[in-house]
Amino acid sequence: MVNLFSMKNYTKSINTKAYKAFTSLLIVLLIVTIFSGTFNIDLVQAQATTYPEYVVQAGDSLYWIAEKFNTTLEAILEVNQRDVNTPLHPGDKIKIPSFPGLQGVLSSEYVGLGTSFVSLSRRSQADLNQLIRLNRITSPSELFIGREILLTDVDQELPTVANTFLEGQTFIELAVKSGQNQWALSQRNLLTNPNYALPQDNYYVPSPNAQNDSLAIPGIGTISIDNLPLRQGDTYVLHVQSPEKIEVKSELVNISPQFTDMGDGQQVAYAGIHALTEPGVYPLTMTFTREDGYVYRFDQLVVIISGNYATDRPLNVDPETINSENVRAEDALFKELVVPITPVQHWSGQFVAPCQDPDNIMSRFGSRRTYNDDPAIYYHTGLDFGYNKGTDVYAPARGTVVGALPDLIVRGNTVVIDHGLGIYSIYMHLEEIHVEEGDIVEPGQLIGIIGTTGRSTGPHLHFEINVQGIPVNPATWLRRAFP
Ligand SMILES: [Zn+2]
Repeated sequence: MVNLFSMKNYTKSINTKAYKAFTSLLIVLLIVTIFSGTFNIDLVQAQATTYPEYVVQAGDSLYWIAEKFNTTLEAILEVNQRDVNTPLHPGDKIKIPSFPGLQGVLSSEYVGLGTSFVSLSRRSQADLNQLIRLNRITSPSELFIGREILLTDVDQELPTVANTFLEGQTFIELAVKSGQNQWALSQRNLLTNPNYALPQDNYYVPSPNAQNDSLAIPGIGTISIDNLPLRQGDTYVLHVQSPEKIEVKSELVNISPQFTDMGDGQQVAYAGIHALTEPGVYPLTMTFTREDGYVYRFDQLVVIISGNYATDRPLNVDPETINSENVRAEDALFKELVVPITPVQHWSGQFVAPCQDPDNIMSRFGSRRTYNDDPAIYYHTGLDFGYNKGTDVYAPARGTVVGALPDLIVRGNTVVIDHGLGIYSIYMHLEEIHVEEGDIVEPGQLIGIIGTTGRSTGPHLHFEINVQGIPVNPATWLRRAFP
């Protein structure tokens, strides 16, 4: 019993001591937990609080930003501690949660001629691995012309132009030509030593009028491509600026547009992409032949994106107007009419709308259509403006009337204007024609009256633009200027 009692007491005393020790330990632990807890939270936040930022542009929404950067609206709201109802203003900076650990201001551009990841990294001064991660790229061959690419912190202060080395040239020549110290230039191009520069690679030199999409090739000149990304049924332009006489050829999806010499070493080719070209990746090849026989060949893959063309409801028209013999004969006449490439640019700037209310569109370019239950699928080669009979039709730009063609079976009363460089505009189904072949027309000048002649289901203007014989989306020409 005593033993038991003392044992009990002993146990009690042990228990009391243990309890006190345990309590102190608990308090210490608690303090440690609180501090280390806070500390841990700080660490986690410090590790995760770098996100690259996107600068909001006019018309952006958080949904659109989330979609563009492959994240969710909820994630964006959370990392930005924003309320969904807070209005978004152009210039606001939004942290992008899909790239934790990266930093800088995000921008995007379309991959231009001669771009590689290394050259992008050199130009933007962004880390190569960061670029690869940002763009989820697994192979350098995925860098197609016209692909949208994300960059961080592009050095906007110092525009640069890409320069390709030719065999036998040295980095020091490039540096001297650009008025740069070769070490400064190699640093700018992320080379530890100028001797590491390679022939046929692109290096960036500061240039006041550089564009992202131009590539300088010493001994050849500068080449650039306009209207990226390229779309089915759209126009693109190739410019070559060369210090000496040079023959240029190019090919994309079996089309080789003709270049026109514009004087001062400038050559330009306007070209179209057929509306039925499958979206995908195609090689763009260009060859430059100098007078001394030197040939430089340029090759790069280009992405052609979908024009998102709709399908019209089946149309019922006069069978005569889809009779294949009639169609063939008229197409042959037209093909001949729009083939010559007048080596002068008659137009300047953006085309004006060919009628009063350019928003009154009945059918867009490129839509797939069928006629009279015929299984053949056509596509719409122009833009249809819907009006009552008797509405005026205007020339959209300066040009020469090369066709004033009454009573065509398919096209009805038709006018064709040559704007130069292979650009033609065409007006079909007119009630009246108010110009004659050879007339020079100015933008806004009356050329005809809307009607419903030829293959037409009601009064409308079919407005078409051909580029070196290919019908292209006229909406592009009404939306932007081709210089
Ligand atoms: Zn039409």
